[in-house]
Amino acid sequence: MEEARFLAEWHLQRVARWLTLFGYPTEVVPKLTKGDIYRCASGRCKILTTSRRWEKTFKNLKVDYLILPNTEDWITQLCMVLRHFNLKPRLELNYCPHCLGKLKPVSPEKVRDKVPYYSYKCGKNFTICPDCGRVYWEGGHKRLMDKTLLRIRERCKDLFGEL
Ligand SMILES: [Zn+2]
Repeated sequence: MEEARFLAEWHLQRVARWLTLFGYPTEVVPKLTKGDIYRCASGRCKILTTSRRWEKTFKNLKVDYLILPNTEDWITQLCMVLRHFNLKPRLELNYCPHCLGKLKPVSPEKVRDKVPYYSYKCGKNFTICPDCGRVYWEGGHKRLMDKTLLRIRERCKDLFGEL
């Protein structure tokens, strides 16, 4: 696993997934612990949470953090993270959303036995995770992602103007 740029609490997992897709690997932790916070000290990672519980500790350890509103509206939460840390909502697709390994390009022939036949024939830009072995490619799922990305960009624009 690559070093995570962000650590997010469990209920922020959709935010975390999209940050990872944008090229900012984000680890999800079940419940924030002191150990997690120590891991992020000295700028090693930034913490995303919805609770003020650890705010003093963050400050004492000089951990970068953002406290998000506790809402079901994950797109607004995501926009707040992008805005606060000055990040771009672009699909980089360079980290494994499952384990945060750094994805490597791979030829479809090499992963033929790991993907459905249709995807092997029609997919593009195959990548493989060196850590967990998962294979990714651009296919039908990519169009869904592009749609969601459009929604994210529109919401961020409504909230903050251009990102
Ligand atoms: Zn992986």
